Formats: sequence, structure tokens, C-alpha cells
Amino acid sequence: MDSQPAKGAVPVAVLEGITKTFPQPGGGRVEVLRGIDLTVESGTLTAIVGPSGSGKSTLLHVLGLMAKPDGGRLTVLGKEVGGLTERERDALRRQAINFLFQFDSLLEELTMEENWTLAAGLKTRSGEPADSPFQALDLAARLGLSGALRRFPRELSSGERTRANLVRALLGRPAMILADEPTGNLDPKNAKQVAQELMELLSESKNNGLARPGIVLATHNWQLAAQAQAIYRLEEGRLVAVDAGAQAL
Ligand code: ADP
Ligand code: MG
Repeated sequence: MDSQPAKGAVPVAVLEGITKTFPQPGGGRVEVLRGIDLTVESGTLTAIVGPSGSGKSTLLHVLGLMAKPDGGRLTVLGKEVGGLTERERDALRRQAINFLFQFDSLLEELTMEENWTLAAGLKTRSGEPADSPFQALDLAARLGLSGALRRFPRELSSGERTRANLVRALLGRPAMILADEPTGNLDPKNAKQVAQELMELLSESKNNGLARPGIVLATHNWQLAAQAQAIYRLEEGRLVAVDAGAQAL
């Protein structure tokens, strides 16, 4: 696996010295993020690994403009987030960021065509140029899912299902996709497949002339993380770069 950021990558988000604390029930505050420096590059899969409670979700919430840091500097698409009004911040989030908190975001009672066109419609809330239903189906086709349109989610193979979720995450052409424990309920084989699909998705996006999002993946699964181009361990509130080679599995 190529351990360098993708060629022509541009910074999508830059975190400098980000700190985040939470009040504790007995008084005082717990410092969850203690000075995070991280650059998320376009077209690059970045994995954040750490045990439960280490602050992975907190970091993704900050990156996703859903939680305000206590200190440090966060820049998304060249805009310093601390200097934005709440309204501007919400607009930036809707324009630039998609979330993949649960990998399975498909509605079981709808066909894939209905799932995708519905998701495309949801993005129009932002008032920004959104994907039309036609564009949503075009995206599915480019990712090899034309044959799945009339089927229901339960009729897809696990690989197709993974790709179907990724189509949904790509709607609205986000600059950044944040995936929080996407493989929580998958067996190791399928979990590894998810990571491979994410990587393939990035290269296919490139080949198909699509915008290439930066993807940040929070996981406690090393096998999944090992697929990423950049891997960090979240330890005592700080990120420690991990050499992908050293984590051979
Ligand atoms: P992870 O995703 O790695 O499991 P989290 O980011 O969810 O870790 O949580 C990190 C720590 O922050 C935990 O100790 C958790 O209890 C605490 N925490 C997270 N969110 C809140 C909150 N809203 N209020 C208080 N404590 C929180
Ligand atoms: Mg979490």
C-alpha cells in the first residue's frame, strides 16, 4: 500500500493544537484531546485508531464542525472555523462534509434507486448546488452498481452493500467524509473488505474524474486501519503516527 498522500492532494482540513475537554460528573473537566495536529488531504484515507473512550468520536465531531474545540485552530477548505458565525459554520459543514457514522444507512423498505434519490434530495437543504436524482444514479453507475437499482438492500451482496453506502456518502460531492467505527458489527473478513472498498473508491473517483474526498476513518480495528495511507494512534489525547509497515498483520 502506498503510504504517501495521494498525488495532487490538497489539504481539506487542518487541525493545529486542538484541545477539547468535557465536564466530569464529580466536578472538574476531563481533557479528551490534548493538542491534536492533523492535516486531512483530499483523495487520502486517514485512519485514527484507539481503544474505546480514547476520543476518536470527539475528534471526528470537532473535524465535522459538530463540536467546538476548547483551543487550537481548525481550518476547513481554507476557512478558519473559529472566525465563522454559527450560520457560516453550518453552511460549510453541509457544503463540505458527509458523515458515515453507521455504515449501514440504507432504508430496508426502499429499493436502491429510491434510497439514492432520497439521499440526493436530502442534500438540497444546504441551498448549495446539490446532486439531482439523476446525478445520484449516475454516481451509482460509475461505481458499478447499475444492476442494483431495482433491488432492495437485503438483496445485495455484502460488497455491493458497502459500495451502496459509499455512493450515499459521496452524494453532494463532499470534500471530506468522516466514518466513525464503520465496521462495528461486521466480521473481520467483511471489515477488511470495507477498507479495501474505501481505497478503491478513492482511486475510482480519480479515474472517473470525480472530486476526491479526504476520508477519515475512526476505528479500533487494526486490520481496517492498515489499509489507510496515513495511520495515527490516539493516545492520551494526542495523535501518534504509526508506520503502516510496522503494523503488518
Ligand atoms: P471513542 O470514540 O474513542 O470511544 P469518545 O470520543 O466517544 O471516545 O469519548 C472520549 C471520552 O470523552 C470518554 O471518556 C467519554 O466519556 C468522554 N465524552 C465524550 N463525549 C462526552 C460528552 N458529551 N460529555 C462528557 N463526556 C464526554
Ligand atoms: Mg466512538
